[in-house]
Amino acid sequence: MIVRVHGLVIRVLPYRESDALVTLLTREAGKIGLIAPGARKVRSRLAAHTQLLRLGTYILYRGRSLYRLDQADTTALLKTRLHDPLVNQRTMEMLEWVMRLTEDEVSDPFLYDHVERSFLRLDQGEPLDVTWLIFQLVMLSHMGYGPSWDRCTRCGLSDDLKAFVPQEGGMICGTCLKHHPPLHNVTLLPPRLVWVLQQIVRTPPHLLGSVRLKPENVELVLKPLAQFVFLHVPVRFRTQEVWRGADELIRLAEDLKRARRAPGTGEDEGDVS
Ligand SMILES: [Zn+2]
Repeated sequence: MIVRVHGLVIRVLPYRESDALVTLLTREAGKIGLIAPGARKVRSRLAAHTQLLRLGTYILYRGRSLYRLDQADTTALLKTRLHDPLVNQRTMEMLEWVMRLTEDEVSDPFLYDHVERSFLRLDQGEPLDVTWLIFQLVMLSHMGYGPSWDRCTRCGLSDDLKAFVPQEGGMICGTCLKHHPPLHNVTLLPPRLVWVLQQIVRTPPHLLGSVRLKPENVELVLKPLAQFVFLHVPVRFRTQEVWRGADELIRLAEDLKRARRAPGTGEDEGDVS
């Protein structure tokens, strides 16, 4: 059976002597694995079409377990900014999210449009942190992991949403915050920012244009969002490991400071010769 799909190359592995094993995220068939015969030969006509982040139309032959790439008509290689280490790092993180959060061969045009649009944003030089924020917000919401941006996670009301609390799964309203303030990691968010976050999650990817956010507001959301992902998404990403590593270092530094201040052991006491 011959199929024609629109897709983005999200992983390439060497396979046998000169073939490539390619993972393609497609609009029509979801995430699929395919063999590109001879794609690693120097003069292969498939080589250019099977590079990481190549976007285009692929004509595949459906085998018993894998697809085989027959021909392709690719339009873009979304790699123009990968020389920037930060863009490179975010790209790898986004690819990891797509690989690990999507199921094989389940068509999901919304998800496909969102992923394609996100890599286009990166490639076209839109602000990196905004792109990373939108990517995560929509992925989490679409895959059913939340967070809840439009209702208080305690009382369910949608008015006066004041603070993002990762431990409680999303936003908390002013009244709940006043009566029982959470013990840890409360991030107060300006109402306008909450509104923008709600719009990002609600708007279909192909209708979401440029999003303007102040860098300090993006930063305000990114850190608690990383905590949220760590607490509520049942997948361990490298990004989370980095975040956890940083947190661990801060804790060690604080312990060290406390130990130095302890009587008889620190320079505060003036007894270190
Ligand atoms: Zn409430």
